[in-house]
Amino acid sequence: MRVTRAYVGLGSNVGDPEKTLTAALHALAALPSVRLRGVSSLYATRPVGVTDQPEFRNAVVALDVPTGADPATGATALLLALKSLERAFGRQARRRWGPRELDLDLLAFGRARFSIDRPPGGRSDDPAKASLPLTVPHPEAQGRLFVLAPLAELAARLVPPGWNETVESARRRREHVEGAEAVRPVGRWDSAKGEWRR
Ligand code: ATP
Ligand code: CA
Ligand code: CA
Repeated sequence: MRVTRAYVGLGSNVGDPEKTLTAALHALAALPSVRLRGVSSLYATRPVGVTDQPEFRNAVVALDVPTGADPATGATALLLALKSLERAFGRQARRRWGPRELDLDLLAFGRARFSIDRPPGGRSDDPAKASLPLTVPHPEAQGRLFVLAPLAELAARLVPPGWNETVESARRRREHVEGAEAVRPVGRWDSAKGEWRR
């Protein structure tokens, strides 16, 4: 079976974010067709956009997932899995960029680049899910230090499709804009224990 390397960003700022991200990561890795290939450090990050809300915890994971009949199909299947995990972890519908129990964003899916309103293979009994719009790579990833810092740990030299620079060069640029203290590593991933350690 053909597999594609995908990068997924995790975020949380409601409840016990570190516990939520750890559990979500294990749930992701336990999905039948997913192989966990890397886990970034855990970061404490300043909220972006809506700033009157608690600090976030963010991390990025590298996954190998089935490519599917074509990348749009494979990416859509992964997005549906991410959305159902968000719900399983109690994510409530709230304003965009506001507080949330768990946010799982598909940052990149191999070399694929597309934006689809009605993805193939995304059919579902739930009409809201059947018409999920999906843009890959994630359109905001290049401008967010809380994504770039953990992603650079796993894929510093990656040039996501549509970017004109590596992840590491975008990270450095954003660090100048946002300030180094906007994102602070607070734990390293310990793969033997399956948790972040201070
Ligand atoms: P942002 O997209 O700016 O990070 P957000 O994560 O707060 O904002 P959500 O409310 O979690 O936004 O998601 C809005 C919608 O974005 C989701 O329902 C999903 O269908 C869509 N979406 C499009 N592309 C992606 C992607 N690459 N990864 C995750 N969701 C995506
Ligand atoms: Ca997001
Ligand atoms: Ca999201």
